Amino acid sequence: MTDLSLTTGTVVRPGDDDWDSARAFHSGIGEPTVIVRASTVDDVRAALRYAASERLDVMVRGGGHSAWGAVPGGVTLDLDALDEVRVEGSLVHVGGGATWGAVARILAEHGLGVSSGDTASVGVGGLTLGGGIGWMVRAWGLAADQLVGAQVVTARGDVLEVDAEAHPDLWWALRGGGGNFGVVTRFDFRAHPLEHVVFATLGVTGDARPVLRTLRDTMRDAPRELTMTYMDIPAMDPNAPAGATVTAVWIGDDEEAARAALAPLLAVDGVSETELGVRAYPDILMDMPAADPDQPMPGFVGGNTLLGELTDEAIDRLAAFREANAASVLFLRSLGGAFGDVAQDETAFPARHATWFAMAGAFDVPGLVDDGNRPLIQAEWDAIEALGAALYGNFTPSTDPGLVTRMYGPEAMARLAAVKRQYDPQNLFCRNHNIAPA
Ligand SMILES: Cc1cc2nc3c(=O)[nH]c(=O)nc-3n(C[C@H](O)[C@H](O)[C@H](O)COP(=O)(O)OP(=O)(O)OC[C@H]3O[C@@H](n4cnc5c(N)ncnc54)[C@H](O)[C@@H]3O)c2cc1C
Repeated sequence: MTDLSLTTGTVVRPGDDDWDSARAFHSGIGEPTVIVRASTVDDVRAALRYAASERLDVMVRGGGHSAWGAVPGGVTLDLDALDEVRVEGSLVHVGGGATWGAVARILAEHGLGVSSGDTASVGVGGLTLGGGIGWMVRAWGLAADQLVGAQVVTARGDVLEVDAEAHPDLWWALRGGGGNFGVVTRFDFRAHPLEHVVFATLGVTGDARPVLRTLRDTMRDAPRELTMTYMDIPAMDPNAPAGATVTAVWIGDDEEAARAALAPLLAVDGVSETELGVRAYPDILMDMPAADPDQPMPGFVGGNTLLGELTDEAIDRLAAFREANAASVLFLRSLGGAFGDVAQDETAFPARHATWFAMAGAFDVPGLVDDGNRPLIQAEWDAIEALGAALYGNFTPSTDPGLVTRMYGPEAMARLAAVKRQYDPQNLFCRNHNIAPA
């Protein structure tokens, strides 16, 4: 048996005092064989050596927001202690276990920002490796597009400095291909000047269709400073009131420009301003309550898709889906701009021509979803997904291995599988939307 001796990290096993807290993920409670809390790159290497010798899968835990932590068995490699955030000019070096809230707070002290996601507790690791759609996606691209380099520990235990010149195949795959290729112990991002944002929320009542058409038309010619989302949620969580909301973020402090951009939406019946004001970027990131094992998230019947165009047909189908399913959620997020400037073959992320991201699903709650209507709801969603170009892995909570072929086109899949064969031929890193080695 390979020795699992670490530098300053710790090993947590069933029966240890902190076993329960160590295996709590946002998506549920895990049942790993062992948890390694790495605090150095050498700890990461030791954990990988151990996992390979014991033939155990590896679950790399960044922010712990994905569904993979709840898959039983294997080594959970917890990167929580690798959370350093170091600013050097306009570059920011971020440990593989840091969360976006911490990055945003530290960058704000330097008048800088990186487009991440919308939630503070989400991990830099999972979000960036899967792409990362955030509030500045139209101005600065995906989180992965802001990456200029990374330190990666491979399945063999090699420590690689990876960028456009060094290991270009791995560099391509890391940006959108998920955690398939190694443990990223350090991300290097190019940050952007950012002092403030204008943050606005609009309440929406009545028919969603005219609102969504106006939203689409507004975003078609909108300045890149502006990003908007639409969210309609059922009454489930006392902290998140039910109903439909448009949220807008404008980079900078120009309230008048933001208000002018929102004017067409505010002219639609049923749309009203809830708030509009200048805020610090770290303050607009949402927080997520800690995992509660007694209240597991219900299943989700539906899916997501990256849409080339938000057509009238897509809008009608999305609105009808939400209306037909009481416990359903509908979420739309504007893309285009800098997201679409990146050539399709420059990164592994799919559908660079997409102008909207859409997600809808019914929560699998007894009394609302059952064996009778579940296939029908899924078929309604499948008809919507057929209008889109690809599934976005990061917003796909299912661990169904069949889904990965809907995330990448055949050309990208073949290229990803070849990179996987080179860097992880034994598929040690399989707790992800898994690319099988070619
Ligand atoms: C509340 C919430 C809000 C969200 N908001 C957004 C959003 O605004 N935009 C968006 O694009 N997505 C968003 N997501 C989706 C999010 O991007 C994914 O859930 C992502 O996988 C979370 O990353 P994590 O590090 O927190 O999760 P983890 O469960 O720790 O990891 C996710 C995957 O990445 C791998 N991984 C993590 N870190 C590393 C690393 N350092 N090296 C190698 N592999 C690693 C893991 O092995 C796993 O396969 C949100 C999710 C939630 C739950």
